Amino acid sequence: MVEKKIDVKNTIVEIDGDEMTRVMWKWVKDELLFPYLNMKVEYYDLGLPKRDETDDKITMEAANAIKKHIVGVKCATITPDKKRISEYKLKQEWKSPNATLRAALDGTIFRGPILVKNVPPAIRTWKKPIYIGRHAYGDVYKNQEIRVPGPGKGEIVFRPEKGDPVVLTIQDFKGPGILQGIHNTDASIKSFAKASFLFALDRKMPLWFSTKDTISKTYDGTFRALFQEVYDKEFKKQFEDAKLEYFYTLIDDAVARIIKSEGGMLWSIKNYDGDVMSDMLGSAFGSLAMMTSVLVSPSGYFEYEAAHGTVQKHYYKHQKGEKTSTNPMALIFAWTGGLRKRGELDNTPDVVDFANKLDAASIETIESGIMTKDLEQWANPSKSNKVVMSQDFIAAIKKNLDNKLKGKK
Ligand code: NAP
Ligand code: MG
Repeated sequence: MVEKKIDVKNTIVEIDGDEMTRVMWKWVKDELLFPYLNMKVEYYDLGLPKRDETDDKITMEAANAIKKHIVGVKCATITPDKKRISEYKLKQEWKSPNATLRAALDGTIFRGPILVKNVPPAIRTWKKPIYIGRHAYGDVYKNQEIRVPGPGKGEIVFRPEKGDPVVLTIQDFKGPGILQGIHNTDASIKSFAKASFLFALDRKMPLWFSTKDTISKTYDGTFRALFQEVYDKEFKKQFEDAKLEYFYTLIDDAVARIIKSEGGMLWSIKNYDGDVMSDMLGSAFGSLAMMTSVLVSPSGYFEYEAAHGTVQKHYYKHQKGEKTSTNPMALIFAWTGGLRKRGELDNTPDVVDFANKLDAASIETIESGIMTKDLEQWANPSKSNKVVMSQDFIAAIKKNLDNKLKGKK
């Protein structure tokens, strides 16, 4: 117990989710947050049943709430597919809530590993964290697709407000096939570039940026050119003063170099590349649950989330009454990320201090050998290693947190 709770001055938007992460989300709040904080939250239930009930309006309401209150914290949510339609008896296959939120807020998702001393990265050369900057707007996440039934001409058309349309043939189909149209905007790419340069400067890391502009000369070529333009105009001097490098290279070259690097860079990549590569990095640094994720919007909104999904298989066990050893670290760090930002914006150092202490208490729990099952096989072998169930893991963190808070005058 704590004698006096810490006041969080302004509202945090809380976005609840599904399955095992929803279950752990509540445990984290009940054990690690609400006993210590007077916190005003505006709650949005993005659990699939509520999205279905509100015809997904709740997702846009949550996005608007982040625009109003600036800081949001999000649990993992189900993106429905055919199986989920029958499982949840859905009215329709609702869109990915993450895609809706990202389209509404725009911006860049920064993902980085939560490093603990006793779980070394799978890649021997990595000594420092590698951050991913994932563009969160457009490309295949906001596309149109056609299942081509048979012979015919597939075209791409742009109709300007004034002047003649531009029409290009993609393929003369001789038989069935597939077609896809994607887009991006200069404004979003420039804000992606700006957010990346700012994040790199803030963390004192070099920025790597990579696309496939040798093949996609106009689409990816524009990403490359706009990054260079933003760098030359706004960041060159600051990077040189800070002795940091801006490095552009092809995506395949970057992949090969990252694996052999020491780490310690921000690697900005397009939306799909970031989706795939952040899972690879998260897992190579120990577990998908050992990764922080924040969406930074160009308008100055922040949404903190877990990078992993709802851990469906564990949830089915939980429903049968079995205890699971699911890792809540990413959920805890979503909350501490949101609290730290709230504290910075509100100028309340005690809130920032609480977030830092909770982070430290969580990391030290794992470093003391108490960990969830996902980490066990990667952790350095030690007699003090002990795999515990989620609730016992949270209880161990709470004990560490209490000790840290007592140490405060
Ligand atoms: P997932 O929930 O990330 O889980 C995949 C596997 O990774 C799990 O089965 C588990 O492995 C391991 N894992 C992930 N998080 C873990 C954690 N915190 N602790 C321990 N192990 C963890 O991905 P999924 O099963 O592909 O997707 C499930 C649902 O999540 C889908 O409906 C999908 O739409 C949704 N999803 C949501 C988000 C989001 O909202 N951010 C992101 C991705 C997916 P073991 O089973 O081997 O233990
Ligand atoms: Mg992914």
